[in-house]
Amino acid sequence: MRVFSGIRPTGQIHIGNYFGAIKQWLKLQETKECLFCIVDLHAITTPYDAQKLKENILELAIDYLALGLDPKKSIIFVQSDVKEHLELAWIFGTLTPLGELKRMTQFKEKAKKYGALVNAGILNYPLLMAADILLYKADLVPVGKDQQQHVELTREIARRFNKKYGQTFKLPSATLPEFGEKIMSLRDPTKKMSKTDDPMGCLSVFEEPEIIKEKIKKAVTDPGNEIKYDPKKKPGISNLIQIFSLATEKKKEEIEKEFEGKGYYLFKEKLAQVLIKKFEKFREKRKKLWQNPSLVQEILKKGKKRAEILAKETMQEVRKKIGLLT
Ligand code: ATP
Ligand code: MG
Repeated sequence: MRVFSGIRPTGQIHIGNYFGAIKQWLKLQETKECLFCIVDLHAITTPYDAQKLKENILELAIDYLALGLDPKKSIIFVQSDVKEHLELAWIFGTLTPLGELKRMTQFKEKAKKYGALVNAGILNYPLLMAADILLYKADLVPVGKDQQQHVELTREIARRFNKKYGQTFKLPSATLPEFGEKIMSLRDPTKKMSKTDDPMGCLSVFEEPEIIKEKIKKAVTDPGNEIKYDPKKKPGISNLIQIFSLATEKKKEEIEKEFEGKGYYLFKEKLAQVLIKKFEKFREKRKKLWQNPSLVQEILKKGKKRAEILAKETMQEVRKKIGLLT
């Protein structure tokens, strides 16, 4: 069983990335062969600062390690270090009808956001993601809900390739967490929390305690004052209950009971305390790792070498199958 997943180096990891994806990664790395990628080529599809990209890559590598990814157990590497991702993505483009890419929810959302400026990189994002996964013949792709559709398309691309050129790829499956597959923005609970959206809506795992307090205090709630989980009628407070539940491993009903008659103010205060405590050790580990970034660079170099061996093997097979190599 092989596992592949990645995060864009577009800013500090938030609690959605953690509860949606990384928590699954930590469990999987104990029993499976895992590749965890820093997907920098995906990061450049949306506006970014070229001067800061290298630093963001290093920062994400440090974040991975601070949260518990272990280079002795998993391959941790940077996407652009392994050029085969791009070659395979190109080949997949030749197998994928344009309409399928245009129908992807993420593309439609970004097309709405950027209007006429939406670039072909965003349209082709799922092709590169399919290449990321299939290059390593991964079985499992632990992601949040927003990426499920892209994994479905990856399966379709694998199926199509196998049909046209003969059995080559396994069909990978997305794995979603039981709870926490979609954490919503603290400022707009109808939108998912994202690194690149409103910073006040996004809570980093490594945020300093005062900022956690401030962001939770300012988080949007709903009319009334009752702590009740009801995502349709009370999306704001339901999102916060979800976060509370994930951070404490208490059931929603337990939380509702604990805060019966207590109101939003007290609930938010307690939630901030819980989050500050939950992520304390990660903050400390992260600070230590920053003292020795060359160690982290070494880990990425080794990760590149290990990933490249697997990638080259697949590409050799693919080139032969599609007639580029005899
Ligand atoms: P960006 O705005 O740069 O796209 P992002 O927050 O969407 O940032 P990604 O790097 O795109 O993060 O995604 C990394 C992983 O985190 C993916 O598996 C994705 O499904 C998951 N994820 C992202 N946002 C959430 C969320 N709000 N809740 C649960 N999982 C999430
Ligand atoms: Mg994203």
